[in-house]
Amino acid sequence: MRVKIYKKKRQVKVERTHCRNGHPRNADNAYVDSKGSQDCRECRREADRRYKERKRQTGTS
Ligand SMILES: [Zn+2]
Repeated sequence: MRVKIYKKKRQVKVERTHCRNGHPRNADNAYVDSKGSQDCRECRREADRRYKERKRQTGTS
């Protein structure tokens, strides 16, 4: 007989000083998108660059 164990989610306050990609979070680097969620400008810039590079590679040639 199997017993399901439900783990309680611990609420840990993590002070976010860096984004998930390790960029420092500060006033200059903070970005709030149209949905209201905070993002990192550096990450957006990188994502945008990757997107454009991919578009260039797979785009019209
Ligand atoms: Zn970032």
